[in-house]
Amino acid sequence: MLEQTYLNYINGSWVPSVSGKTEASRNPANRKEVVGYVQVSELADLDNAVNAAQAARTAWRQLSGAARGELLFKAANIMESRLSEIAETMTREMGKTLPEAKGETARGVAILRYYAGEGMRKTGDIIPSTDSEALMFTTRVPLGVVGIISPWNFPVAIPVWKMAPALIYGNTVVLKPAQDTAVTAAKVIECFAEAGFPAGVVNLITGKGSVIGQGLAEHNGVNGISFTGSDAVGKQVGLAAFKRGAKYQLEMGGKNPIIIAADADLDLAVDATISGGLRSTGQKCTATSRVIVHKDVYAAFKTKLLEKIAAIRVGDGMESDTWMGPCANEQQLETVLEYIRIGQQEGATLAYGGNRLQDPKLAEGFFVEPTVFENVTPAMKIAREEIFGPVLALIPAESMKEAIRLANDTEYGLSASIYTRDVGNILTFIRDVDAGLVRINAETAGVELQAPFGGMKQSSSHSREQGQAAIEFYTAVKTVFIKS
Ligand code: NAP
Ligand code: MG
Repeated sequence: MLEQTYLNYINGSWVPSVSGKTEASRNPANRKEVVGYVQVSELADLDNAVNAAQAARTAWRQLSGAARGELLFKAANIMESRLSEIAETMTREMGKTLPEAKGETARGVAILRYYAGEGMRKTGDIIPSTDSEALMFTTRVPLGVVGIISPWNFPVAIPVWKMAPALIYGNTVVLKPAQDTAVTAAKVIECFAEAGFPAGVVNLITGKGSVIGQGLAEHNGVNGISFTGSDAVGKQVGLAAFKRGAKYQLEMGGKNPIIIAADADLDLAVDATISGGLRSTGQKCTATSRVIVHKDVYAAFKTKLLEKIAAIRVGDGMESDTWMGPCANEQQLETVLEYIRIGQQEGATLAYGGNRLQDPKLAEGFFVEPTVFENVTPAMKIAREEIFGPVLALIPAESMKEAIRLANDTEYGLSASIYTRDVGNILTFIRDVDAGLVRINAETAGVELQAPFGGMKQSSSHSREQGQAAIEFYTAVKTVFIKS
C-alpha cells in the first residue's frame, strides 16, 4: 500500500520542505506499518513559515473577535465531521486506544468551540482613576506570532488548546508538532485550512525538535513560544526565548501522587489508581506514578489493585478488547524497561509485571506489561524521576501527615489526588499539597478545558493554560488613561 505524504502548511498552501526530505511515521503497535510520510524541514522552511505568520498578523488582529470566532467554530465542525478518521490516525500513529483517541478528538472540538465563544467576552477592566475627570481601563493586545511546540502524547488536544486561544486573541501561529505524531497534526491543520483561515494565520512545519523546535524558540520573528514536553527540552526552549526577550510558557513533567487514606473506599481508589496510572500506557503528564497508601489499608489495597491489573488486556489500540496500548515509540519502551531495571537494582520489589510482552503477535510493537513496584523508598529514582510509562510505585505511609510529606517530596508539582471521606484530611491536603491540580476522590489525570491547567515547582514555568487563564499568556495588557 502506498502511504500518503503529508506536507508543511505555509502561507495558506501545502508545500514540501525545501530539501524535499521526508521520513516515515510508524505505528508503535506494529513498526512495519507506515502511517504516512512527513516532511523533515530545515531552517529555510521555518523562515518561510515565520515570515508568513508575520505578514498575516496585522490583518488578523484587526478582525473582530467574533469574526475570528466564526472561523474557530467552522474548524470545530470540520474536526467533528472527521472525528473517527482523526482518532484512528492518532491510534495508529501513537498507540492510545481508539476510545481514548476519540475522546481526545472530541475534546479538541470542544476546545475550539469554547475559545470561539471567547472572541465575544470581555478583555479588560475599568479601574477608578484618582483623577475624577479621567477614564482608566485595561485592554489586551495579541503578542504577534506565537510558536507552538507540542508533544506526541496528546497530538490533537495539546496543539488545539494552544492554537485556539492564540488565534482567538489575535495571534498568528506556527505549529511544530512532535515528529512522532506529525500525520495527526497535519489532519488537525487540515481542519483549520478547510475552515478558511486567511493565508499565514495558521502554519504547520514538521521536522526535528533540535532543528525546528530550537529554531522556533530562537527565531526573532516569533514573539511568544508555548511548549509542552520534557523537562530538559522545556528549559532549553525557555532559555532561548528568555535570551531574546520573547514571552514563553512551558508545561513539563510530573511525578503525580495519589494518597489512599485509611478511610478510603478502596474499590474506588483502586479504579482511580489504575485509570490515572495506566490509561494511555502511563504517558500522560498527569499520570499517577506514586501510590501512597496508609499502612492500615496497604495490604487490602494492594490485593485489590493487583487483582484488577491482572485483568488488563494489553494490545493494539485499534482492537476493541484492548484496554492498554503500546508505548508510543521505541525510545519510550527502552526508557520504561530501563527504569524497571533501575527499580530492581535499587532494591524495590516487583509486585506485578515488569516485562516487555512476549506474545509473538505483538513482537513488532512496543508493548510492556502494566508494572507495580513495592518496597519503594522516596530516595529511589523510580520514586523521583518521571518514567512516562505504565509503572506504579507503592509507598506505605504511617499517617496522613507523612503521606502529604511524601507526596510533596518531589521536584514536580503538576497533579495530586487523595481518596478519603474525612473533611479534615481533605482540607489539609488542599492547603498543603504542592500541585497545580488538586483532586479529591478523583484520579490525578483529569483535566477540564474550561479550568486553568498547569503545575507548580519544576512542572511548569508557573503559568497556566486553558480556560480563561489562557488569555494571560496569549495577550499583553495595556493600561489606558484618558483625560478629556
Ligand atoms: P520532548 O522530547 O520534550 O518533545 C516535545 C516537543 O519538543 C516535540 O515537538 C519535540 O520535537 C520538541 N523538541 C525536541 N527537542 C527540542 C529542542 N532541542 N528544542 C526545541 N524543541 C525540541 O518530549 P516528548 O518526548 O515528546 O514527550 C514526553 C514528555 O513530555 C514527558 O516528559 C512528559 O511529561 C511531557 N509532557 C508534559 C505535559 C504537560 O502538560 N506538563 C504534557 C504532555 C507531555 P521531536 O518530535 O522532533 O522530538
Ligand atoms: Mg521526543
